[in-house]
Amino acid sequence: MPRTNNIFTVGWLYPDLMNIYGDRGNILTLLKRAEWRGYEARLIELGRGTVTQMDEVDIFFFGGGQDREQALVYEDLLEFKQPPLEKAVNSGAGVLAVCGGYQLLGHYYQTGEGERFPGIGMIDVRTEAGKKRFIGDVVVDTEIETLTPKTLVGFENHSGRTYLGPKARPLGKTRIGYGNNGSDKTEGCLQGTVLGTYLHGSLLPKNPHLADYLIRSALIRRGVDELSPLDDSVELAAHERILQRAQHPHR
Ligand code: GLN
Repeated sequence: MPRTNNIFTVGWLYPDLMNIYGDRGNILTLLKRAEWRGYEARLIELGRGTVTQMDEVDIFFFGGGQDREQALVYEDLLEFKQPPLEKAVNSGAGVLAVCGGYQLLGHYYQTGEGERFPGIGMIDVRTEAGKKRFIGDVVVDTEIETLTPKTLVGFENHSGRTYLGPKARPLGKTRIGYGNNGSDKTEGCLQGTVLGTYLHGSLLPKNPHLADYLIRSALIRRGVDELSPLDDSVELAAHERILQRAQHPHR
């Protein structure tokens, strides 16, 4: 269990390998927004091999990576990270997984060449790469009822097509962009305290409402269910700019 004092801990899975398209911006956002609420924000890097302290983590971050990096981490994920990660999530820790990290939390990721990397099956999704890469701005109408605004914005760059099984629900519907698979108009996945998404950008700096959703859900087990409000005018202006750019690309 995490310490019950005012330390808020983010655990970064494979920082040296699974960190593309600025995904570490998500970590900076989580740490700063916790700090601005009076927590002592702490980052633990969780590289390959045996790691300790995973039971002290409030939110795990698992970033994106190309097929090459996914090939380098999936066996370690299964052998060294799956047991303590499952234990932490079962006790209420949250996970934010983006793209390659999202794929490996599912049942498997299969590359375009047909190589299949088993995932840890923490979320009920499966992913198979297609020929065309899905690249561009994404606007999602979120299905998380408590979020305001109701949109999420980001950038996608993936060949994987992810399909949700019955235990998972989508993060939202794509208003613009391909999302999970370019066909069922879903984006991302929510299952318990685990959130998977294809939104790079990075995601959280321009979606502060989602950052607080993650922080709040990770703190519930510590008896905290309200976060003091912050002035998000700059973050939401960036959100609106991306929304306008995606909806009116030629302006
Ligand atoms: N290699 C995976 C794919 O192409 C994930 C890419 C990523 O993390 N951006 O779908």
